[in-house]
Amino acid sequence: MAAKRVVIVGGVAGGASCAARLRRMDEHAEILLIDRGPYVSFANCGLPYYVGNVIEQESKLLLASPELFRTRFAIEVRTQHEVLSIERTAKTITVRDLATGHEYSEAYDVLVLSPGASPLVPEWPGVREQGVFTLRNVPDSRAMRTWIDEQKPASAVVVGGGFIGLEMAENLVHRGLAVTVVEAAPQLLPPFDREVAEYARERLVERGVSLVLGDPVTSIRRVDEQLVVHSQSGRELASGMVVLAIGVRPEVGLARAAGLQLGQRGGISVDEKMRTSDASIYAVGDAVEVHNRVTGAYEMIPLAGPANRQGRIAADAISGRETRFRGVQGTAVCGFFGMTAAMTGATEKQLQRAQIDDYDVIYLHPNQHVGYYPGAQSMHMKLIFRHSDGRLLGAQCVGGEGVERRIDVIAMAIQMHGTVFDLEEAELCYAPQFGGAKDAVNFAGMIAANVQRGEMKLAPWGGLQKSSAFILDVREPSEFGGGTLPGAVNIPLGQLRARLDELPKEGEIWVSCGVGQRAYYACRILAQHGYDARNLTGGYSTYRVIFPAR
Ligand code: FAD
Repeated sequence: MAAKRVVIVGGVAGGASCAARLRRMDEHAEILLIDRGPYVSFANCGLPYYVGNVIEQESKLLLASPELFRTRFAIEVRTQHEVLSIERTAKTITVRDLATGHEYSEAYDVLVLSPGASPLVPEWPGVREQGVFTLRNVPDSRAMRTWIDEQKPASAVVVGGGFIGLEMAENLVHRGLAVTVVEAAPQLLPPFDREVAEYARERLVERGVSLVLGDPVTSIRRVDEQLVVHSQSGRELASGMVVLAIGVRPEVGLARAAGLQLGQRGGISVDEKMRTSDASIYAVGDAVEVHNRVTGAYEMIPLAGPANRQGRIAADAISGRETRFRGVQGTAVCGFFGMTAAMTGATEKQLQRAQIDDYDVIYLHPNQHVGYYPGAQSMHMKLIFRHSDGRLLGAQCVGGEGVERRIDVIAMAIQMHGTVFDLEEAELCYAPQFGGAKDAVNFAGMIAANVQRGEMKLAPWGGLQKSSAFILDVREPSEFGGGTLPGAVNIPLGQLRARLDELPKEGEIWVSCGVGQRAYYACRILAQHGYDARNLTGGYSTYRVIFPAR
């Protein structure tokens, strides 16, 4: 039997993973990897750090060369060749050699599409001016470095406060530029819930980054040596360079023109084996839409992890294996200015969009390791779980060290359909410099499990401003004096048992403290004396970010 000819379009995260895995599974397949760019298998995730000169050599971004693909994997790589069209009936593609302009036809038995997603560039006046950049590949990052080295801009405007925007802000500050981040949404890190993202806002402000939130950019104008960014509210921000990081659009042009089915969100539709509506064509990575394991909604998640896994799964399917893609849950992490923000599963915003209301939320602010070991810092965590059975739905965490470890543990629990009781019982690493004998993940599980078992009732932060509940703050007077919740009455925890008669027997008592722990103790005391006490989880530390004073 003739060897199967597999042609892969796009040679980076999804495409390169697919090619290498396929070779390991099928020694006889003919594999051709085509990319229109000058490189395959480069580290897109490292690009902001190359701009920032944290990664000093461009060569470090190149993970595997065409030569390595040829000698180690017997895979033919053609860079600077663009696939122009797919002729499905003939099972051929038309390719253009970008160096010579020559066009030719290439046959396939199986075609894999991993064309990725391109940065969004809206039709704003001035968006094509010199000095306005997007970041997707090595030449883009080289162009930014050259601009910084040669033009020596003193300042930059980063449009977009998502992951890439914040990474770029950090790296431009590292290069000595004064940075303003402009974000159309009223918060940074739009995938996160607003109150969690508030910590990121605080950190950027502390580090001297100027922020413009909730004010979309409308145009860019060159005035002499400066680029002036105009916003909807009439702001004018002059700077020496502009970086657009406002999201990506899946590259579905080839698939659409070939009549492959696209999904509700505009990405290429695939089944669990990454097969498109044409059984001979697979698609993976940023260009496909896949179901979210938590909400069930179809989504495009432009992340390297899913792209790599999908590439592997397509290779397995092509070589006759039974692996299936389980879906995504949006596990992501971003670092900026010494802060880590990580998330997995559904956010509250996503649940509300999906009209899912069977959930509870808790907040906690544990240390990353025991308080007595030097360097202890707070992490800020939000856990969302199903009200009816305690099934884990999502978690977000912001802080310094150890944030991503906690989210990774919860991500795995979500993937295994775990509950808050699983987090409560999880046996995790512990030594003083790494965690606590009760880890932050255990704490999250314990608090949520207390709620599930009816041992602690929750007061909803969202209802604070319209509630007629009695608000009790059980911190010490010195803490209370530094700021509290509107209308709160202060009875320190140590005095609570002696002062029960000051509390209403009828109606709800919503209890707050610093981070939620003393409020929990207070709720247990009160519940056992017949009061209807409820914990405002996370205490004043949560209040501060839900109702930020600006
Ligand atoms: P890509 O890796 O984009 O590869 C697609 C390739 O296909 C491109 O090289 C393109 O030139 C080529 N191509 C497209 N059309 C054609 C055609 N017609 N003919 C030939 N070639 C074609 N994800 C994370 O999880 N963590 C991170 O920290 C992270 N940081 C990032 C930072 C930056 C600056 C960027 C740009 C992305 C980052 N990502 C990160 C996202 C991650 O890189 C992508 O999700 C992942 O690379 C997607 O893989 P892919 O194979 O679908 O597409």
